[in-house]
Amino acid sequence: MQQSGRSVNLVRELYRQGPSYVFAKKPGEIAEEFGFSQVARLASNENPFGPSSFAINEINKAIDTINRYPDTTQPDLIHALEKFHGKYSFVTGAGMDGVIETCIRAIVNPGDKVAISTPTFSFYGLATAAQGGTIENVPRNAEFSVDISSFISSARDAKISFLCTPNNPSGTVTPVSDIEEILRDINGILFLDNAYVEFSAEEYRPLMNDYENLIIGRTMSKVFGLAGCRVGYAFVPGWFRQIYEKAATPFALNNLSAAAATGALQDQEFLDKTISFVKKWRDIFTREAGRQVLSSGANFVMVDVSPFTGDEAADYFAQNGVLVRSCRSFPGLEDHYIRVCIGEEWENTRFLEVLRKI
Ligand SMILES: *Cc1c(COP(=O)(O)O)cnc(C)c1O
Repeated sequence: MQQSGRSVNLVRELYRQGPSYVFAKKPGEIAEEFGFSQVARLASNENPFGPSSFAINEINKAIDTINRYPDTTQPDLIHALEKFHGKYSFVTGAGMDGVIETCIRAIVNPGDKVAISTPTFSFYGLATAAQGGTIENVPRNAEFSVDISSFISSARDAKISFLCTPNNPSGTVTPVSDIEEILRDINGILFLDNAYVEFSAEEYRPLMNDYENLIIGRTMSKVFGLAGCRVGYAFVPGWFRQIYEKAATPFALNNLSAAAATGALQDQEFLDKTISFVKKWRDIFTREAGRQVLSSGANFVMVDVSPFTGDEAADYFAQNGVLVRSCRSFPGLEDHYIRVCIGEEWENTRFLEVLRKI
């Protein structure tokens, strides 16, 4: 192995010293360390039912095509998206993370302001920093609703602003009427992160017809059960689509992932089953936790574990074979929360048992 010597100084300081994405602990390591044969995986908001068989079938059909570069226009996937959502302008990427990164690359010059409603998903900030943008965090209210007037005053002259609804990690749903109020009053672009919207009752899509400064990000990683395929997409205003394609990494979405997404979009039964299961267990978690559970429109809930810190609680859960996410790493959030997603029946039951013992 080569020693890192002077050459490391060639690297941007941001990546020698700056923050990195925080990943969930690995279930294998926990299982081995504490001697569990099975670990409840409730830290990453995945779909516990696995991929839809429709996705697997499409992957099998696409396997013979992998010697060829993808068709960058992704006609099958776009067609499936139009069948699912109706006629809108779509762009795709390697996960919604890839979509977010491409949007920022297309819009933000070094020094440009980017407003972010916090505490929230960390990647908006990481991708902004990568582009040399200036981050302005806009704290939410005490109960995690968006402080609309302070968000507007920060977002008004930002190039792009990020608002996550339902919000990760709090689960908070921002009403459509609040989003409209924001859109009417800002000059920049609003990126609305809808990673979990399928689990909520709120409908933001029609806003695309009325505002030309709105991007709605979606992912195939959560309800669609394809986290390992890395497929994201967004509703974009018509004028932005070509610009996005210019800024994007060529062929970001591979043949197998695009095929999986195309299949998953056609399996309504799988979606309905997942969503009703999640809603049922979200209610049970809320009722039976014996602690404050924030009202959530997502497939996870944030639980107040005080007087313990997030890490203390997450470690205790790990020792008991349950992986949950400590919320310590979410800037702007007091350190006494964990985030736990709805898993399979046995995982949810185990979570509640351990929570009662903590
Ligand atoms: C999971 C998640 C994403 C991105 O997911 P991808 O796997 O990159 O598609 C984006 N935003 C939020 C809030 C998320 O929780």
